[in-house]
Amino acid sequence: MKKRITVLAGGVGGARFVRGLLAHLNAASTDGVSNNAAVTVVANTGDDMWLNGLRVCPDLDTIMYTLGGAVDEHQGWGRSGESQRTSAEISAYGRGWDWFTLGDLDLGTHIVRTDMLREGLSLTQATEALCRRWRPGVRLLPMSDQSVETHVRLSQGTPEHSAGDLIHFEEWWVRYRALVPVSEFVQIGLEKASATPEVLEAIRSADVILLPPSNPVVSVGTIMAVPGVRDAVRSTAAPVIGLSPIIGGSAVRGMAEQCLETVGVEATALGVAESYGARSRGGVLDGWLMDVTDEGYLPLLEEAGLQGATAPLWMTDTPTTAAMAAAALAMAPPTSRS
Ligand code: GDP
Ligand code: CA
Repeated sequence: MKKRITVLAGGVGGARFVRGLLAHLNAASTDGVSNNAAVTVVANTGDDMWLNGLRVCPDLDTIMYTLGGAVDEHQGWGRSGESQRTSAEISAYGRGWDWFTLGDLDLGTHIVRTDMLREGLSLTQATEALCRRWRPGVRLLPMSDQSVETHVRLSQGTPEHSAGDLIHFEEWWVRYRALVPVSEFVQIGLEKASATPEVLEAIRSADVILLPPSNPVVSVGTIMAVPGVRDAVRSTAAPVIGLSPIIGGSAVRGMAEQCLETVGVEATALGVAESYGARSRGGVLDGWLMDVTDEGYLPLLEEAGLQGATAPLWMTDTPTTAAMAAAALAMAPPTSRS
């Protein structure tokens, strides 16, 4: 029986990690091409939005394009070799978000997805249909089929908004580069949403659950907040192993510190681990892999009830990322099922 690995992922950090995980699994297999594992990726859809009449799912698409070999490597998202002609046309009409560029090839995906949703397919089904083209090598699942959209409450006004306004997370992240202070994250639609049966099954039946070095607040945190997910993670027989998105006290490529500050979590490898918490003490983690520079936290991790280990955690290239995935898997004791 294939080893079942379930990964709860955000966009760029999650996609790069899974690419390394697949490289590790393929290298470890006998023929170097196929592998003896079945990987399911549960993606954050809290960054999704309706834009120009289209349903845009940034994290799902980043994962699909990265694993399908079509991503713009330099940006980390969008399609390689695309132009912005259609976006420029939309801006010329004064519509849409001119600070949120959607390339022409990417827009094709959003048109097809919206078409499928309007025909009555669920987001899970539409994602599966899109993946038939890209063959990402994993089963890619949205965390929920209902809309959950992360918003932030501004603590300060901007030229376009007043203090106290709720704006879409992507507007804060991309337009304001997370530089305007915010008081809270609000997931609109969360109470009415639920995890899909596919997601719950992927968590329950896994041999190991991996939390990649994705944003702990607005990527992994949002997935965990979907009704049903946290309980499933807490009760699965599989070990839950996380990799730190913070190295030496700062977020690697990104602005995760601003998110952590907003929710009162210290932006260190230890702070993030403690905020996830040990499953033995009401949290969601069993093991935590940190960068070698954070080795000093190992005794404190143990005090927090977590198994700790270190490895180089900069995802500089696929072999290094594959080694990270191998180190994380090595922390997972075999379950009774595997
Ligand atoms: P997003 O949805 O595109 O923002 O992507 P994710 O939530 O999946 O990942 C973003 C997070 O990945 C960032 O906040 C960083 O903390 C983390 N990250 C990015 N590159 C690296 C890396 O090379 N190593 C580690 N350990 N973390 C990284
Ligand atoms: Ca994201």
